[in-house]
Amino acid sequence: MKVHFKGTRGSIPISPCALETREKVVSALMAARGKDLRSESQIREFVENQLPFQHGASYGGNTPCVHIETGSDDYLVMDGGSGLRVFGQEIKSEAVEGKTFHIFLSHLHYDHIQGIPFFAPAYEKNNKVIFHGGHDDIEDALRNQMMPPFFPVGFEMFGSQISFEKHTPGDLIELCGAKISIIELDHPGTSYGYRIEANGVTVVYSTDAEHRNHAHGSAYPYVDFIRGADLLIFDAPYTHSQSIGNRENWGHSSNIMAVELAAKGEIETLALFHHDPAANDEDMVNFLSHTKKFLERSRLSVKETKSGLSGSQSSRTHPGNVIVAYDGLSLEF
Ligand SMILES: [Zn+2]
Ligand SMILES: [Zn+2]
Repeated sequence: MKVHFKGTRGSIPISPCALETREKVVSALMAARGKDLRSESQIREFVENQLPFQHGASYGGNTPCVHIETGSDDYLVMDGGSGLRVFGQEIKSEAVEGKTFHIFLSHLHYDHIQGIPFFAPAYEKNNKVIFHGGHDDIEDALRNQMMPPFFPVGFEMFGSQISFEKHTPGDLIELCGAKISIIELDHPGTSYGYRIEANGVTVVYSTDAEHRNHAHGSAYPYVDFIRGADLLIFDAPYTHSQSIGNRENWGHSSNIMAVELAAKGEIETLALFHHDPAANDEDMVNFLSHTKKFLERSRLSVKETKSGLSGSQSSRTHPGNVIVAYDGLSLEF
């Protein structure tokens, strides 16, 4: 299974301005001083392996969209944020017509549907686009965002065959060679998470969810839903203090809650997702570093507690890895 992140930002698309890009170039040239960088391969090696990520690349600013490749001819996509436009452009050459796209929507907030009017394959007449989700009003929401005065092109201009499928927690959906289950999440207007199992690999796409204090309790259904996943894509735009401070009840969670739940759910790779639009690349690098420090310390403290109680050397082993997802990142399992 391959997972391609097309949009990872939350709430609103962002883009670096000219001055921010210029600062990256200045930082890169400063770091290159005195290095032997004559050939293109030497330069590429330096940029890819030595230059800090925030100076040689960017986390990107498109809103949520993740393409999950299962080996099927049909396409499986999570959310239709502005990253969906990029996905549509990229596959233009390979998917001209006669293709089926399954687009699962977490919910109908604008950052998760705003890419749909710009999804080029939806305008091709021999394609099929099927929108899946847990909400009753998906069709209304998608039609309304393409009505005057908000948008010049109406929903009826889509040339493809469009349909809608509503799902309920407890359903097992089989398509694209995958088994998909659905969970309701705590978010204004409700959001839904999806567990996708294919070819012996499990990915959970779970965005826009506020996991409150009771998530620390022993019987929290979400932990069973994510259990044993190879990859957990988790909505974590906040620090712990933001999540219990001025951003409480905003419908999102923290990096600390992400690690805690990923540990309980025995997750292999935890991908922080739905980034704060106010965070620049430097902030994101720090956010990842703080999350990794917390993970390392929580491993040590579990080890101490357990050895203190039982004399054993067992320690917290999950999540095995934590990353900050970025636009353009592809992972293979
Ligand atoms: Zn969102
Ligand atoms: Zn939302």
